[in-house]
Amino acid sequence: MRSVSASSPSARIKFWGTRGSIAVPSQDTLLYGGNTTCVELRADGEIIVLDAGSGIRPLGIALDREFQARPIRLSLLITHAHWDHIQGFPFFKPAYDSKNEIRIFGFDGAGATFREIMTEPMKSPFFPITMRELSAKMDINKLNEMKFSLGKLDIHAAFVNHPGVCVGYRILTSGGSVAFLPDHEPYEFFLHAARGKQLSPEQTKQIAADQHAALVQFLRGSDILILDSQYTDQEYERHIGWGHGSISSAVSLALESEVQTLVLFHHDPNHDDEMVDGMVESARELVIKSGSDLEVAGAQQGSEILLEAKKIAAA
Ligand SMILES: [Zn+2]
Ligand SMILES: [Zn+2]
Repeated sequence: MRSVSASSPSARIKFWGTRGSIAVPSQDTLLYGGNTTCVELRADGEIIVLDAGSGIRPLGIALDREFQARPIRLSLLITHAHWDHIQGFPFFKPAYDSKNEIRIFGFDGAGATFREIMTEPMKSPFFPITMRELSAKMDINKLNEMKFSLGKLDIHAAFVNHPGVCVGYRILTSGGSVAFLPDHEPYEFFLHAARGKQLSPEQTKQIAADQHAALVQFLRGSDILILDSQYTDQEYERHIGWGHGSISSAVSLALESEVQTLVLFHHDPNHDDEMVDGMVESARELVIKSGSDLEVAGAQQGSEILLEAKKIAAA
């Protein structure tokens, strides 16, 4: 791992879990990683954790080691209630230590409050320790606003195209802005908000176009875009309506939003390292064809992005 102490960056992103759907530890996933969604962002004195998939477990161990007797204060932002984004929380070691303060933020889900989303999976018979029994100072905050701040950081949220309620976050740091959309399907092929509604094809098309334009506006000029690109274009044709994106849709959203770096994320559990390598390559070819200088990387578990250098350090 590259040391970050020499030219202390304004912001540092570390990927603790990059996988979508379910954890897949294997010899064939060592490079991109087997843990589900969890990304750490350190910026302007804050520790922000994005989602609590199984990758939050090794993050907890690393924080414990780093802070030792000092208290850990962090904010956990949850995008949505699907298992691959919350399942690691009961194994987050800092939650079991009374010196630590953990603030958790997210929106009410479809048919469940945000508090229920975080606490119900830890109740019997699903888990032996309830949220209330955790020793850390825990604060579960339901978000109502699409713009809020944590310390010096301004944070924007946007609802995205995914089954149920799911958001993306954009965090504005002094070193640049980071957009995190781990689960998102391109609006033009399937509109999740139209499910169960009596909309004409024209109405659906119009809403999809409006939502897409709003999302481009939300992302515009981000330094880093961490984006759902679970499927190859061929696979996506068989998974329309599943809530995830493809390589070409990810590249086109990044180009349209004029972001600096696109990080392909939420790798499919059926894709081994070789497959993801090929997908990163095909995304880069699309960028070259477009004549843009957009940088493309595949999120690798254990890798870091330093926002000043905007380079991915090898694990
Ligand atoms: Zn997911
Ligand atoms: Zn999901």
